Amino acid sequence: MFAMYNCPTCRIPLKRNSGLFGVSWICPACSGKGVSLSILRKAVPNPVVNEFWRKVKSREYSRKRRCPACKSPMSEVPVLKKEKDMYLDVCETCYFIWFDANEFETLPKNEISGTKEKEQLPLKARKVLAKLEIESLANKQRKESEVNDRLWQEGIELLIDAALIAFFSSL
Ligand SMILES: [Zn+2]
Ligand SMILES: [Zn+2]
Repeated sequence: MFAMYNCPTCRIPLKRNSGLFGVSWICPACSGKGVSLSILRKAVPNPVVNEFWRKVKSREYSRKRRCPACKSPMSEVPVLKKEKDMYLDVCETCYFIWFDANEFETLPKNEISGTKEKEQLPLKARKVLAKLEIESLANKQRKESEVNDRLWQEGIELLIDAALIAFFSSL
């Protein structure tokens, strides 16, 4: 039997839903949706998650609603400044994140396959891995382009840039 959570707005029980990225909790009345931080990390690019988590930790935002899971007050944190701010309610105690209807859908999403194995490695291991990848790329490139040193130098810098961008955006 699963725990019973209530919608922070409507106060009625949330429905458990098994989705693409894991379990979410959906309100049948207002279509609000609750997910855990780990689900959000799987679903949404890390820079987005890190940015809003930093805001949660700053404790500069008002706390209005209570967490459906642990009843602690949730911080109301803005994400994605475009036409209008979107506010997520975040529980710092149990890492529960509440989205009003359609808010979850408007966040940028990760591709589902591919980076999963790397994500499961600890940060240090991922950094070592990325360094090795960059070095092996560099070696490969070096062998292939002894013809023109200058071109090689430029090419390698581009490659390293690309590898670094790929690596950091995967963090
Ligand atoms: Zn509701
Ligand atoms: Zn909580």
